Amino acid sequence: MSLLAIRRFPDPILKRPTRYVQRFDTQLKRLIDAMIQTMHSHPRCVGLAAPQVGSAWRIAVMDSSRHPKTTTTSGLITLINPVIDEQKDQTVQREGCLSIPDFTANVRRATRVHIKAINQSGTPFEIGLSGLEAIIAQHEIDHLDGKLFLDSVENVKTDVFRRKAYL
Ligand SMILES: [Zn+2]
Repeated sequence: MSLLAIRRFPDPILKRPTRYVQRFDTQLKRLIDAMIQTMHSHPRCVGLAAPQVGSAWRIAVMDSSRHPKTTTTSGLITLINPVIDEQKDQTVQREGCLSIPDFTANVRRATRVHIKAINQSGTPFEIGLSGLEAIIAQHEIDHLDGKLFLDSVENVKTDVFRRKAYL
């Protein structure tokens, strides 16, 4: 097991846009494996983006299958160089983040997204996600653009909540 330390706000790496991956080698595979293990080591963590573990590459991993609210799930998804090219409908849902452990917030997101990305072997793929998985993907891709969920809050006074412990 190689677990990576989680960077927390206000670490400046969380605010920097990431770089597109161009080399699909064993080093990349090791980083992704470590990100997946790190995500799975945190109870109820359903997504992790490279800047959260101190890496500047445009990579995110997600796995909604362990979340209690999950109805349908694609399981583990690795997104390299992801871009959202279509979004539909909107919902407001409570979000949290390992990098901002003291707060949760209501954030407006699309309920359906279509994403273009590359897999670990360097092969491009497209995926449509809905519900919780669409929300997770938008949260993680925001990380890759240097955005945190608190940046998307519409009203800081009514939509941000302090929490006692990260569950
Ligand atoms: Zn996050």
